[in-house]
Amino acid sequence: MKFETVFDDFGSLVFSEKVMKERLPYPVYAQWKQTMTKDNSLDRNTADAIAHAMKGWALENGATHFTHWFQPLTGSTAEKHDSFIEPDENGEPLLRFSGKSLIKGEPDASSFPSGGLRATFEARGYTYWDCSSPAFIKDNILCIPTVFVSYHGESLDKKAPLLKSIEAVDKAATRLVNLLGDKDVKHVNPVVGLEQEYFLVDMELYKKRLDLRFTGRTLFGSNSAKTQELDDHYFGSIPSRVSDFMKDVNTELWKLGIYVKAEHNEAAPAQFELAPVFTNCNVAVDQNLLVMDILRKISSKHNFACLLHEKPFAGLNGSGKHNNWSLCTDTGQNLFSPGDKPAENIRFLVFMCAFIQAVDEYPELLRMAASNAGNDHRLGANEAPPAIISIYLGEYIEELLLNISSKEVKRTQKENDLNPILGLSYIPRDNTDRNRTSPMAFTGNKFEFRMLGSSISASTVNIVMNTIIAKTLDEISNKLEGIKYIQDVRDKSLELCKKIIVDHSRIIFSGDGYSNEWVEEAKKRGLPNIISYIESIPSLIEEKSIRLFTDYKIYTDKELHARYEILNEDYCKTIEVEVRTLLQIIKREILPLLVKEIQQLLPCLGLTGCPNYIQNRYQELTHLMNDLDTKQELLHQAFEHVLTINNSHDRGIENYYKIAPLMKEIRETIDSYEKISSEEIYNLPIYGELLFGNR
Ligand code: ADP
Ligand code: MG
Repeated sequence: MKFETVFDDFGSLVFSEKVMKERLPYPVYAQWKQTMTKDNSLDRNTADAIAHAMKGWALENGATHFTHWFQPLTGSTAEKHDSFIEPDENGEPLLRFSGKSLIKGEPDASSFPSGGLRATFEARGYTYWDCSSPAFIKDNILCIPTVFVSYHGESLDKKAPLLKSIEAVDKAATRLVNLLGDKDVKHVNPVVGLEQEYFLVDMELYKKRLDLRFTGRTLFGSNSAKTQELDDHYFGSIPSRVSDFMKDVNTELWKLGIYVKAEHNEAAPAQFELAPVFTNCNVAVDQNLLVMDILRKISSKHNFACLLHEKPFAGLNGSGKHNNWSLCTDTGQNLFSPGDKPAENIRFLVFMCAFIQAVDEYPELLRMAASNAGNDHRLGANEAPPAIISIYLGEYIEELLLNISSKEVKRTQKENDLNPILGLSYIPRDNTDRNRTSPMAFTGNKFEFRMLGSSISASTVNIVMNTIIAKTLDEISNKLEGIKYIQDVRDKSLELCKKIIVDHSRIIFSGDGYSNEWVEEAKKRGLPNIISYIESIPSLIEEKSIRLFTDYKIYTDKELHARYEILNEDYCKTIEVEVRTLLQIIKREILPLLVKEIQQLLPCLGLTGCPNYIQNRYQELTHLMNDLDTKQELLHQAFEHVLTINNSHDRGIENYYKIAPLMKEIRETIDSYEKISSEEIYNLPIYGELLFGNR
């Protein structure tokens, strides 16, 4: 007898390689396989055959429509649905899906941001199938992952450059691995595991908070009597309503072929984390977009709202998306695995050094790629990595690397453990002393980048990561090329590693990344500390970035400028929505509440013997009301001024330095009122309710 398990449906909604193998005639399958290994490109007949099989499979699995699923420059994903059904020449219904529809689409894309890449008169945009990420069915729609480009071929999405960056690092890493003696390796893939943090709040309460609905975060509200100080939520048992939700999420994600593994409570109350098993970079990014989508959808079924914002609640932990990244050869080896054979260790050292150099040369790009307006509230606050990029290697590796460059290090280990090159007999695969305060931590055989905000697509971070590593790997290869004997290659590699460590060790830091001392120390080391996201955006169009991205053909100069424009605009729009929402809440909700509070006191005030408490309360409430009224007027005026600034970057700077502080001041006033508000009158959900479901 066969037992049924929840895993029987695993991957049932994915047009996977297994399904293709079963359904395609062998020559067609073989053609597709060759395309995947980049040895060939798809011809029309093969595409038609795949489309035919895909249609059959999709219809059997309940799909009625298909869509080209793509990643425009703002927002996470976009889709335009076409149904399979159409009339044939006799007006009879026909189910059609051609190779052409599979490969190419033309969404009406004029309203997607292009940063000036398209004038409205040439609003055409095309989507093309990305056959390296599998098609899947979501809500009865066959979704075909695609790239999105303009009529003139400029990329209008985040996927096309990601694919290019994957190819760049593949080429560069393969070249270096081959030079180091491993000739069998034909490809190297970046692999990524994305941990997703999120909050859940009750849907009814969520609906009552315009700020949560419009901006994803609370624009006012202060800590409840109980918060996370007890740390009793972290890894605590999961409430049953939440675990029902998680069960549903898992089931959906498993059907989509996503190996969700870990789930647990996070540090803040009502905060949780979900982590799928790592996979190829491109697929991992796609899967994370699906994870966010499914979290939102399933949460509403369970009467929750899922908050993916980086900082929904002031004074509580924010949410991030840890990007675990490493490089894996097509022969199954992880290039960041320390291993235990000296021959492999050379390779490990070279790749580690290349990584260190890359991060030290382009910290601004990484900082920018990990951020958005929301992450400004999280970075540098007491629970998130600061805006300074540094690398934590763990004691062993740090000592090992500093020793090969003969830099003075504090020796905490036995000599024989440290004999760096030949006697590398023991390297722990896991760093037990994990430093949670580091933005970029080496965790055994991968780098975990923790700066990335929870709501942000992981594409840009990985585009940057792949490209900067490709560049440093190539620089090393250039110096090894032509050396005849492998021993000489190894000697030269070691020499290069030494130089890299000497030049770039400033980026290595294992202390407390949250401390003020680190901010001082980083300054002394000359590491950039870009306080705000808006100030990090210009790093995209700095000369060295333009050179990097154009050399590797990831972005053209024009595309970079377009993206710069879009990021600035996007930042401004986020702040502007927040300002409008806040002003609306003040005018339509908070001030009227204050009026009500005051009115309640008025009858008593004129009477002799009116208690002091009432007189004082009246004073306090009128003071708060006037204060709030004055401040909202100030915000209104400052905002009107900001809107007159044409240059989007300048507008962003003004938003950050002028508008955000005013909003913070207003928040303080509202919070002072909330603290003394009467329970009967104040009808907006407070933190205690949102986070614990009770006051
Ligand atoms: P945590 O950081 O919470 O301790 P884990 O160490 O279990 O979590 O892993 C976090 C993520 O890193 C998971 O998605 C996991 O699949 C992924 N991961 C593990 N090994 C690698 C690797 N070599 N390359 C990329 N990602 C990896
Ligand atoms: Mg982690």
